[in-house]
Amino acid sequence: MLVSNLQVKLPIHETFQCTVQGEGYWTGALVDFIRLAGCPVGCPWCDTGYSNGGKGLPSVPQSIAQLLAQLQSPRVVITGGEPFIHQNLPELVLALLEADKQVSIETSGAYWQNVSPLAWITLSPKEHINPKYPVQEILWKRANEVKLVVSTGEELDFYSKYLVDNVNIPVYLQPEWGTRDRAIPIILELLKQHPSYRLSLQTHKFIGVQ
Ligand code: SF4
Repeated sequence: MLVSNLQVKLPIHETFQCTVQGEGYWTGALVDFIRLAGCPVGCPWCDTGYSNGGKGLPSVPQSIAQLLAQLQSPRVVITGGEPFIHQNLPELVLALLEADKQVSIETSGAYWQNVSPLAWITLSPKEHINPKYPVQEILWKRANEVKLVVSTGEELDFYSKYLVDNVNIPVYLQPEWGTRDRAIPIILELLKQHPSYRLSLQTHKFIGVQ
């Protein structure tokens, strides 16, 4: 049996515990967050501060043992930044599973590491924003859900080929927060064309939790 190395360190932006997942399939679930530092994709509306690559943002090395000691919820969401840029991500996932935690990973899909198949993967592609970071092919098959941030509605056209090939996984359309008043009516129209898709709101922002 594999045993994780608890001394391995990862650059941590922040952690927080006992909040609710605000987005996608696990909306409303009690979760802890581990936010890994770093993302090169550079989305202009990035709400975690990485639109400029994260200059000046905190990045503190923490061991997996230190991260495990902070956990309080049954599910742990590993987010970023972009978690898959870190070669020790599979080790972290393994350690969380060994600690009997459920694991979710949120990714743009621009990078891949061979994480456990037990990890739930939320693919939120950003290739339409920065074509230098295309989604790795494996992630279109491996993802457990697709969460598409909608600003204009054209995002759906950009990924339609892949979404048609992935009809068996849930697809969430989430208004880009800064333009949500415009994006929500667009999403309601898109749902009429794609009734199996679902609206995802950033619930945590509406209820004022992290
Ligand atoms: S991919 Fe995600 S973390 Fe990276 S810049 Fe875009 S929104 Fe921010």
